[in-house]
Amino acid sequence: MKPEKKRTGSTRPASRTHPARNSYTKPVARPKQTDRPKQIDRPKSSAMAADFETAQPKTETAHTPCPLYRKCGGCQLQNMDYPRQLHWKQERVQKLLGKFCRVEPIIGMEHPYHYRNKVQAAFAWDRRRQIVSGVYQASTHRVVPVESCMTEDQTADRIMGTIRKLMKDFHMTPYDEITGKGFLRHVLVRRGFSTGQVMVVLVTGTPVFPAKNNFCSALRREHPEITTIVQNLNDRYTSMVLGEREKVLFGPGYIEDVLCGCTFRISPKSFYQINPVQTEVLYQTAIDLAQLTGKETVLDAYCGVGTIGLAAARQGAGKVIGVELNRDAVRDAIANAKTSGIQNARFYCADAGEFMVGMANAGEKVDVVLMDPPRAGSDEAFLSSVCRLAPERVVYISCNPETQARDLQYMAAHGWKVEAIQPVDMFPHTNHIETVVSLSREN
Ligand code: SAH
Repeated sequence: MKPEKKRTGSTRPASRTHPARNSYTKPVARPKQTDRPKQIDRPKSSAMAADFETAQPKTETAHTPCPLYRKCGGCQLQNMDYPRQLHWKQERVQKLLGKFCRVEPIIGMEHPYHYRNKVQAAFAWDRRRQIVSGVYQASTHRVVPVESCMTEDQTADRIMGTIRKLMKDFHMTPYDEITGKGFLRHVLVRRGFSTGQVMVVLVTGTPVFPAKNNFCSALRREHPEITTIVQNLNDRYTSMVLGEREKVLFGPGYIEDVLCGCTFRISPKSFYQINPVQTEVLYQTAIDLAQLTGKETVLDAYCGVGTIGLAAARQGAGKVIGVELNRDAVRDAIANAKTSGIQNARFYCADAGEFMVGMANAGEKVDVVLMDPPRAGSDEAFLSSVCRLAPERVVYISCNPETQARDLQYMAAHGWKVEAIQPVDMFPHTNHIETVVSLSREN
């Protein structure tokens, strides 16, 4: 799971510096149980140690490579160098989950910069009536201009710059959500890191797009790497970036990326992990913990576009059942199974809790449950049905150790034992934490 960036309040920072000085160099190879990074040493000084004890990082800037650190608020841990960030996260997981089982050392990134494959920017006028694009200042709808950012894909940042320039040439105005006047509201760029395919989604406040063909041609002339352009209409007063209606202006309307040997189709609205390098590490950790032998029926709950389940199918799951609420993501998951030549996977569009209740009532048999709920965590309908279905193992991936701790507490009270806890750093410089936990039945 994965923090989607909030549109009000924090989003990501910008920086002109791309420091490569942080050197927590765990190779980003497949994390074998036997090949884990060494435990990070505790900080030597008590002043540093104090940082690790607090849930919220300090906001002062002992170490702030980004000039927008304060205004943007997207990189809450920029006051620490990367090894200290990892240590802070390790301590946090220890505090929240350590009572269940030993916490393995967090797996960090070798090069923790420009890892975001998805970049979104709001467009607005500045005080001098120049078009700017960037993120909303914390708790406001004021746009902080961002030209480059140490976490974002650099191709995406360049495309944003070209769009700002073309808007002038095409007399295109930014949308004002108070007056409802203007045209371009947000731009979303997604890049498949392994395929190089690039999607640009132009989110507009009004449906009529004069000169759309010329605009798209001009954009593609400057960025031939763009493989698809979509117009998304969002005319409501909302902090959501994307609206319901979409029109494909160029290309197939989606991009593809390759993860764990499977090809994935990504639509504008589908959830897809934003750090593909660490996603492979995360999924491999989950699949290793699932201990598949080739016979198991695996349930991939909260499956998004089917990424974990399809990777598991490729690595020895006997059968995969995926369940996901977002219809577009389910459609993509079905297409992804086909493209990757995987025939033993089925995907269903449903609430995971309701789906599990249905499975438990029908007396279905599941051997392994892989679950990856959103930040709010799972719910009692789901967890109680997992208990009734009684799989051999549950592997729980979470982007919020607080809700995960709550859910693990429920499982522990219902006869489940936590066997491994592996944090993976999916979001360097932010305070977001991802963990993989495996559980087995105690009796
Ligand atoms: N496992 C996927 C997606 C994880 S994100 C991956 O790694 O890419 C969490 C997913 O849960 C999102 O796709 C979201 O649409 C879905 N979701 C949220 N609430 C849900 C619910 N109640 N039932 C099923 N899926 C849900």
